[in-house]
Amino acid sequence: MFILNFAKVVEVGFMFEVRVEADFSAAHFLKDYNGKCENLHGHNYKVYAHVRGSRLDEGGMLLDFTKLKAALRAVCREVDHTNLNDFDCFKQNPSAERIAMYIYDGIIARLKAEGIDAGKNAPAGSAKLYAVDVFETDTSRARYIAD
Ligand SMILES: [Zn+2]
Repeated sequence: MFILNFAKVVEVGFMFEVRVEADFSAAHFLKDYNGKCENLHGHNYKVYAHVRGSRLDEGGMLLDFTKLKAALRAVCREVDHTNLNDFDCFKQNPSAERIAMYIYDGIIARLKAEGIDAGKNAPAGSAKLYAVDVFETDTSRARYIAD
């Protein structure tokens, strides 16, 4: 019989990763930019949130998909059908990189409100929000990674 030894999994550096997706539509324009993106236009953004860790709960889960998805969707709802340039935090420019950072911070805050610490200072091995990907198009993606 094969028995999983989770202590060993931690020792040798194995990881689990879960990913959830959401999307939103928003307008933006880029300042100090020479090209067609300096004009107001829109994107159907796709967002991936990746969580990594080596410790599973008693149910065998790294982090409940439902809780992670709820946090991600709540952040996406804040920016859905808006002009991103209207947000103070995007005054500099609502680039995909900054949107990824905004969504990352929003997910951490929402999970914290649910009693889940998924930030970079969470205990070793536990579920941490590793990265948020923001796709402006199918072929253009920016990623914010917790360091
Ligand atoms: Zn754009």
